[in-house]
Amino acid sequence: MKVQEFDSLSEEIQALVSSSIEARKLAYAPYSKFYVGASILTTSGTLLHGANQENASYPLCLCAERVALSYASMHCPDAEFRAMAISTSAPLGPDDIPAPPCGACRQVLMEYQQRQSSPIKIYLVGHDRNVWIYDSIHQLLPHSFQGDFLNK
Ligand SMILES: [Zn+2]
Repeated sequence: MKVQEFDSLSEEIQALVSSSIEARKLAYAPYSKFYVGASILTTSGTLLHGANQENASYPLCLCAERVALSYASMHCPDAEFRAMAISTSAPLGPDDIPAPPCGACRQVLMEYQQRQSSPIKIYLVGHDRNVWIYDSIHQLLPHSFQGDFLNK
């Protein structure tokens, strides 16, 4: 993992990060007021996004990451995902880290990464213009449960 200032990122990644911030406006979060945007950059340069969708029946809430992954998978079924940026309305956490994806989203990201030949880079967007960069979902979910366990 490394931390990089927004202004030092490539134009393409700045657009990805900005898209995740913009996507927060599409969040439906009347209960938590925790607005999350997630954007995906495909290897062909397409940007696709999602935002969290809450429900009065809390277990039915959907995280922005899984909304974005499902949306991207449906609209670009043959695309490989090069990167995902995640942006939240929350201030930085206890270790000055932007809010990372929950365990469920990490598991789903892992499944998508395994379906393609290259890793998905993860960009966590902070409020201090710093971006936390992970080269692969493996860095956020080591020793993950994978489909290989089911096929032996
Ligand atoms: Zn999640």
